[in-house]
Amino acid sequence: MTRLELEHVTKRFDGPSGDIVAVNDLSLEVDDGDFLVLLGPSGCGKTTTLRMIGGLEEPTEGDVTFDGVRVNDVKARNRDVAMVFQDFALYPHMTVGENLGFGLKREDNGLAENEIDERVAEVAEMLEIGDLLDKKPSSLSGGQKQRVALGRAIVREPRLFLFDEPLANLDAQLRKTMRTEIDELQSRMGITSAYVTHNQEEAMTIADEIAILNDGTLQQHDTPARIFNSPNNLFVAQFVGSPDMNIFDGTMTEEGERYRVEFAGRSFHVPRDLFEDVAEDVSDVTIGFRPQDLFREASTEGRQGHAGPVIDSEIRVIEPLGTDAIVHAEIDEGTLTSTLTRFHEIDEGDAATFTIAPEHIYVFERDTERLIK
Ligand code: ATP
Repeated sequence: MTRLELEHVTKRFDGPSGDIVAVNDLSLEVDDGDFLVLLGPSGCGKTTTLRMIGGLEEPTEGDVTFDGVRVNDVKARNRDVAMVFQDFALYPHMTVGENLGFGLKREDNGLAENEIDERVAEVAEMLEIGDLLDKKPSSLSGGQKQRVALGRAIVREPRLFLFDEPLANLDAQLRKTMRTEIDELQSRMGITSAYVTHNQEEAMTIADEIAILNDGTLQQHDTPARIFNSPNNLFVAQFVGSPDMNIFDGTMTEEGERYRVEFAGRSFHVPRDLFEDVAEDVSDVTIGFRPQDLFREASTEGRQGHAGPVIDSEIRVIEPLGTDAIVHAEIDEGTLTSTLTRFHEIDEGDAATFTIAPEHIYVFERDTERLIK
């Protein structure tokens, strides 16, 4: 097992119009056996970070350490990490069995031929690909190829697993099955892992901890629950959760022991102590609330919590998803999105009144986009 650390790591590339800062002063620690997911939009620096951990890319500044030992100068093949890629990267001329055993045969690990065969058989059984050992990759389905790629990583029992969008080429159903399997395998083997994805749902289900990157800069490194419930800033809040968070411009004024917050022509009060440190002169804010936290007044659904702002609207679009529906409603200042279970009670064109408990409303400083409540 290995404790992984990145210390002030920056990576610059030469671009056609100057420097590209792919990763900017990134510091992260991942404990022994933990599963880190690097999450963020396309181009935010996830793959570059993973490649620096694996030794395929050298940091321009800063250090990568395994168990406190700097590995910047250690070549990829000597880092004892196993990587699984989106395109599987299997050797086409080798059978599945040979693909699985190749890494072990190449290494100077003192294993005899029959011990390697045993290990390959064990892993093949674990991944339920025992009957494919004599086949060539070209005759396998996408899911089977990805199992072989996983098997090749597992068979070596490396210090670290590194995954780069390993499920991106699989269909939706298979992605779900495989992500559960990867999660189970990783916790059973207890091998420290870093996993790149831009898919927030995948990140939430598989990760012990998530690092969200934007423009090469770390936005938040936290448990999935804290990323969802206590986003550091507007970027994180908008990047996680589905459907997207409702966002409105608002203002905030002090009123004795509480703040009065206004948005979309409505106002509500929040006790001072619910706010983190607020700069003296903050008055322009951005208000956010999740579609799951918005309730229809007439309904008894979710009517716990304090009285919040009441918002009259007109239902525009109802998108049924089975047990619930995504409902878009129009107000003068924009559109409200909510997820409702009792959507059969309403129709497109109906007037509808929504409410939201103040404790479910996020307030961000408009300028810095930092969360203040
Ligand atoms: P994606 O999800 O699209 O794969 P990513 O978050 O993994 O994106 P990176 O591939 O790490 O992002 O790229 C980060 C930035 O660095 C991008 O602007 C990219 O164009 C740039 N970049 C990456 N590799 C190189 C390279 N070898 N040379 C020049 N620029 C590069």
